[in-house]
Amino acid sequence: MISLSKRITKNSIVISLITVIVIIIISNIGIHYYFVDYVMKQNKLNDKEIITYVNNSIENDGVLDSRELMYLKQQAHFKDVELVLLNKDREVIFISSMGMGKGKGMGVNIIHENPYKEDYTYIEESISYKKQVVAYLNIGHYKNIITAKEDNDFIYTINILYAISFIIAVLLAIILSSYLSKRLTKPIIEINNSTHNISKGNYKQVKLIKTDTKELSELANSIKELARQLSEQEELRKRLSNDISHELRSPLAVLRSQIEALMDGVLEPSPERLAKLNDEIVRMTKLINDLNELSVVESEYLRLNMAKVDIKEELSAVIDSFIPLMESKNIKMEKKLDSHVFIQGDKDRLKQIFVNLLTNAYKYTNEGGEIIISLRKKDDKAIISFKDSGIGIKEEDLSYIFQRFYRGDESRSRKTGGAGIGLSIVKELVKAHNGIITVDSELGKGSVFNIVFETMK
Ligand code: ADP
Repeated sequence: MISLSKRITKNSIVISLITVIVIIIISNIGIHYYFVDYVMKQNKLNDKEIITYVNNSIENDGVLDSRELMYLKQQAHFKDVELVLLNKDREVIFISSMGMGKGKGMGVNIIHENPYKEDYTYIEESISYKKQVVAYLNIGHYKNIITAKEDNDFIYTINILYAISFIIAVLLAIILSSYLSKRLTKPIIEINNSTHNISKGNYKQVKLIKTDTKELSELANSIKELARQLSEQEELRKRLSNDISHELRSPLAVLRSQIEALMDGVLEPSPERLAKLNDEIVRMTKLINDLNELSVVESEYLRLNMAKVDIKEELSAVIDSFIPLMESKNIKMEKKLDSHVFIQGDKDRLKQIFVNLLTNAYKYTNEGGEIIISLRKKDDKAIISFKDSGIGIKEEDLSYIFQRFYRGDESRSRKTGGAGIGLSIVKELVKAHNGIITVDSELGKGSVFNIVFETMK
């Protein structure tokens, strides 16, 4: 396999080579056409000059003398043309590339040989004297238009320059692309190292990689976030197993010592004693069930059966189911439910939230107390509150009560049978519904738990 940096370098070189070659081809074609055009125009001008000269010379005295022929010869040489003069009977009387001396006057000193060169093309112009055609002038140009040495030199120089720029372009492509590819691959290598660290569980070693490439920066951020979340999960997992063993160890120790005492005959297996042991077992069973429930709601795999839920209806049903329990403790329960409020949610999970909060309100409210459950709609929010005149929560405990296994007052909570999981479940479920739960409490006076959900039309 080829490394990314090598691949980038290779591709850049290929691209710059192709670009330079294309530029060379196109500009060569362009220059060539420009020159052909230019040379042709120049030729026409030269031809015109020669024709005018011949016409003027003939007009004077009807002949071209040796001086004039000499001049034509020079012009032919300078202008890189071949001049052939024919008399009116189309007999050759002068050829610029041949020796002088024969062209005195018109129609004399006829040259008996083919004056036309094979690699030349000729144009013919008739020469008149006193409105009578007395001669024909043939001007021959080399078939290959760009013949001038200067022209070829120019094209040669241009191509040399192209060759130099070609080499410079390749060198630049190599230098720049290797620099750029290093810049690009450096963060990728670092990201790769980070993922290796993640796979080994070294989350702390995953550093935020700095790069000004948007996509790579986003990838680096995601990797960092992934590491953070995995580390958090791992932390949570460790804490959970610690908490569970801690939670189970003491009741199991109590059970064990009690049962041993019963077996040794130290204690009598009275119905009350057995009932206490049974309570302990029930409590542990509940704890395990709660933990199981918490792990479900905390996991990302919690599936909510989302539907349009009438909060008033569901809340009302839960409240009604608590009436016998509240009556048994002589607690006055009041419901202040506004008109129907609809939210997007999972009916059963919402009920679970209400049951947990009502259970707490019941547990932490003394006999003869009061519980008010209200539902209001404000703007596009549904506000549900559970207010009790119970024992309240200490201010320093308030920020911890939603954490798992956190109990406001260890001994008191134990009496109520709670393991500090109910509110953790509530918080996770509210979060899963994009809601917010807050608590307000005053020790000895009571507490109020507020939940806010987005409503549906
Ligand atoms: P638990 O099973 O102990 O009730 P929770 O998670 O439901 O566990 O509650 C955590 C702690 O929050 C409780 O131990 C208690 O101290 C406090 N708490 C919860 N609800 C109330 C309430 N309505 N009144 C007073 N304290 C409460």
